[in-house]
Amino acid sequence: MNHQSTTCVHVRTPRPPAGQPLSTPIHQTSGFAFTDPDTFAEGMARPDAEPVYTRLGNPTAQALELTVAQLEGGAAGFATSSGMGAINAVLMTSLRSGDHVIAQRSLYGGTFASLEALAHRWGVEVSYVADPDEARAALRPNTRVLYAETISNPVVRVADLPGLFAVGREAGLLNVVDSTFATPLLCRPIEHGADVVLHSTSKYLGGHSDVIGGVAVFADAARHRELWPELVEFGAPADPFAAWLTLRGVRTLAVRMRQHCENAQLIAERLAEHPAVRAVHYPGLPTHPDHDLARALLTGSGGVLSFELADRAAGLEFTRSVRLASLAPSLGGVETLVLHPASTSHRQLTADQLRAAGIGEGTIRLSVGIEHPEDVWADLEQALA
Ligand SMILES: *Cc1c(COP(=O)(O)O)cnc(C)c1O
Repeated sequence: MNHQSTTCVHVRTPRPPAGQPLSTPIHQTSGFAFTDPDTFAEGMARPDAEPVYTRLGNPTAQALELTVAQLEGGAAGFATSSGMGAINAVLMTSLRSGDHVIAQRSLYGGTFASLEALAHRWGVEVSYVADPDEARAALRPNTRVLYAETISNPVVRVADLPGLFAVGREAGLLNVVDSTFATPLLCRPIEHGADVVLHSTSKYLGGHSDVIGGVAVFADAARHRELWPELVEFGAPADPFAAWLTLRGVRTLAVRMRQHCENAQLIAERLAEHPAVRAVHYPGLPTHPDHDLARALLTGSGGVLSFELADRAAGLEFTRSVRLASLAPSLGGVETLVLHPASTSHRQLTADQLRAAGIGEGTIRLSVGIEHPEDVWADLEQALA
């Protein structure tokens, strides 16, 4: 019979239930105990062995990895503590000093900052391009990575992934794409030549504005296995509870995306007819420069759009006037959010850089939620007035 102090430490654990839980259990543990040292040792060495230590692998995080990998048509996934964690884990383990990266010009701000840091601190060369022709022209003998975003922020340009990745394939590059805005339900980039698909799961995959996370999906199991030892030492794994919240979001992803796309299409059409709105950027509108590409590449136009008001004052006044929608960062949650990029997410850009990114002083980005679209429209209409 143990002493009470020992019983306190070694709490009772019932044997696992015979029934399979309907919801994935949260394996809130830093590590796992073994009776067999060989099984323990194997778990330290391989991503497909038994989980040993949660930074290297955790069943709840693995449930998320397996699910997103399957949705993307990939071989394996790696769940991280944030979208930037996934992006940096992949860039830092795939690049070395002296390598060259070809990246799309209109990147997520954090990604642009990470590439600039790689350039300034670690001697990685970066060229920014707009299309496959520019990508081909930018190729160098030391080019290693081609980096794109399926749908860009905030003017929602759609990347010519088949064209870009054909260039990457021919040159033997690692084709990487951030597909956060598209989700695996609107586009499966691996079918168009991607080697790695990245997501900030803080957005649509989580979907409820209550968790930060990311995931990298690998087309090829061998590449995942090769990079895995460095990915886990990079040190940005998904926490089990965050992975669980994300998985709970993923379960309703299909119905949410359908509603996001339907609502955004209606809002985009109404905005396009409003006298105070100078232009609307949404791939679902025939006026969008990538409308045909979007129809070929995406199974829906997404939930994010942007539009132009007269000037900075009009933009800021609009963000002060919304009532149902919230003025907030991020996107992809069930609730409608508005943002004035020139004063917030893109404030570091100079006037020239803003123009190059297609962002005006009066640009508003809208992440259209899944509320009733007439209620969203009524709010936007009163804020425009
Ligand atoms: C939000 C976002 C990121 C960064 O993700 P975090 O989870 O905030 O680290 C990267 N790429 C895109 C396109 C995003 O929208």
